[in-house]
Amino acid sequence: MNRINLLTSVSSFAARYVPLLRDRHLLTKNNHLRLRYVVGGSAVFAVLLGMGLGHVASTTPAKQLAHIEPAAGLTAPAILAQDLRRDPLAKESASLTAQNEATAPLQPKVLQVKVGKGETLSEVLEDAGVSLEEAGNVVKAVSRHINPRQIRAGQKLDLRLDPDKSGSGLALTQASFAIDPLRTLRVERGNNGDLQSRMDEKPITARRQAARVIIDGSLYMSADKAGVPDRITANVIRLFSYTVDFQRDVKNGDKFEVLFDSYLTPEGELVKTGDIVFARIVLGGKEYPLYRFKTKDGTEDYFTPDGRSIRKSGGLMKTPVAFGRLTSGFGMRNHPVLGYTKMHKGVDFAAPIGTPVYAAADGVIEKAGRFSSYGNYIRIRHSSKLGTAYGHLSRYASGIRPGTRVKQGQVIGYVGNTGRSTGPHLHYEVLVNGVQVNPRSVKMTVDNRLKGDDLQRFREHIRRLGQEYVQNVPSVTVARNASN
Ligand SMILES: [Zn+2]
Repeated sequence: MNRINLLTSVSSFAARYVPLLRDRHLLTKNNHLRLRYVVGGSAVFAVLLGMGLGHVASTTPAKQLAHIEPAAGLTAPAILAQDLRRDPLAKESASLTAQNEATAPLQPKVLQVKVGKGETLSEVLEDAGVSLEEAGNVVKAVSRHINPRQIRAGQKLDLRLDPDKSGSGLALTQASFAIDPLRTLRVERGNNGDLQSRMDEKPITARRQAARVIIDGSLYMSADKAGVPDRITANVIRLFSYTVDFQRDVKNGDKFEVLFDSYLTPEGELVKTGDIVFARIVLGGKEYPLYRFKTKDGTEDYFTPDGRSIRKSGGLMKTPVAFGRLTSGFGMRNHPVLGYTKMHKGVDFAAPIGTPVYAAADGVIEKAGRFSSYGNYIRIRHSSKLGTAYGHLSRYASGIRPGTRVKQGQVIGYVGNTGRSTGPHLHYEVLVNGVQVNPRSVKMTVDNRLKGDDLQRFREHIRRLGQEYVQNVPSVTVARNASN
């Protein structure tokens, strides 16, 4: 540890006062003390006492003194004289440290600091020993690239301070911090003495990634073990929510396969995931493949092998909630709250509070508000005849209000326990001409098939994607043998 040069003579100390303070600041950074301003001599003493009692058992009063920058109108020697006089320990420590390091030259400092909760960039820099003015210059340099207010707690900064021209103090020469896995913001002192800043960006490369997941227990955990990022798993579930009743149909031993885009740093670190281009779920030996395809008119969508769009089907999602478990179907049941047999006019999906709820099909929000025993309730009109309703929500997605147009699969709200409800779940209803019907009885007859040129291209497209999957997936030969 680098110890301070604390001179016993008050007058010679005065000349070194400011660099000395900065030096100490660095040494005690780990204690996270932030005392930069004091209003007068007596306040200084009070602060020192408080620190000595409560805070830094391992540091001497002389060290603590170094945290305090002189307040306006109060000179440094005045603070020192006062405190050495009032605190005998400080005096002793001062003379001890003076002996071995009074003449040691200032060394450059390389350090990493972390932004604390509620701290500004300027405050962090000042804590690290950068002067107020210099910290201001760094903030200015940083703001050419990002809004310094967006720097969050936990952000790490690498700093380098070198002896300044006079040799009596340290000045910032370099500061850098990784904004995200791709971008590093660097501030450096140029030859002219000014701080210059630049954003270094790593190139990202796109890669097709394939994975095969055998479901064993939780679908998410199984996918995680197979190296599938959560976002991709969530999107696989959402894609198949149009055709698969997830919690009812998926059993252990079932599997899904997925081919998706991922974006990587040169070091191979995943930056973000892109689109799923192919996914296949195998339930009880039955395969449901889906392919992403762009039609002639420019719309991208997912299609079954026979060229049917899953989205434009006009059909309803079977599970309009992310990973919900069907707990109560449509029909007569004993009402869990009221205790008598009652017609259940919808289906219930148990899911934790906050689980996203999807619009079961394209439509317009008809109602989004409290509605008697339904609690927070949304009703969507999909056509002049068909509607869906969602009850017991904890809250609505932003922008969801009567008149809002929604897309199938769009998040409209979140699972809750509002209204007459015994636990967090989604109560989901399908309405035909305003009357609740069993969702399973609703059949859609919309022509959503690819035709002509599109269909030709689609057939070639799915052949290519199939090959690409085989080339990319680990141990696919085994998988194919196993499923044959
Ligand atoms: Zn219900």
